[in-house]
Amino acid sequence: MSDIDLSEIPVEEMLSSTHFDRGRPRTTLVVIHATRSGQVGQSISLEASSTAIYMDNDSIPEKARVSSHLVVGNAKVYRVVHDADTAWHAGVLNPYAIGIEVAQAVPTAPYHPRQIEFTARATARYCAKYKIPIRRVMDESEPGIIGHEDSRQGKGYGKSDPGPMWDWPAFIALVQQYTGGAAVPTPPTLKPPTKPAAFDVEAERTALWAAKDRLAAGGWPRFAQAVEAAVTQSKGER
Ligand SMILES: [Zn+2]
Repeated sequence: MSDIDLSEIPVEEMLSSTHFDRGRPRTTLVVIHATRSGQVGQSISLEASSTAIYMDNDSIPEKARVSSHLVVGNAKVYRVVHDADTAWHAGVLNPYAIGIEVAQAVPTAPYHPRQIEFTARATARYCAKYKIPIRRVMDESEPGIIGHEDSRQGKGYGKSDPGPMWDWPAFIALVQQYTGGAAVPTPPTLKPPTKPAAFDVEAERTALWAAKDRLAAGGWPRFAQAVEAAVTQSKGER
């Protein structure tokens, strides 16, 4: 199958890299990354082009070699690995994932709106091609669009990309717009337990109250009402 059509955005093909595996068994995820060269003050366009060049650099040791399907700058997108092949961006997730590296030199650097747009256009095409639901997921066990930092794989390596500067709601809305598809609510995900905190019933109420709002917004009005009733009634317990 040919690569997704990116003719609506400026694309530079840089497909000379050999840093990938041929083929990919399954595709259930689009993983969003930030490049994070660490070069403070580096422009987005230089961050993008130097990342794409790095992915084709055979002088770096084999273990340090990385790649992604796309690298997204503010003026253009570099296509580095063919859709059908396995890029090296998220360890054990690679055989299931398309990887998109968004150029951001350091975690505090703002993304350019064009990067959100380019990434959303490409993600819309990948989701349509591989029948991936258009929703942000917080765990790789569910098909969707995931931030590297939200995956167990990424957490295991202390990843923080794409980070708080990435506007997820705007991004997902754009992906939906470009696909013309209906919104799919983000699935609730059980987080692995961390260290037990002191029990705080008010914190439990606050969390449930927030869940109620999410349920209502997600199209579950009766479920939201039930949670609201439970929280309200709990105030009489003590
Ligand atoms: Zn990453």
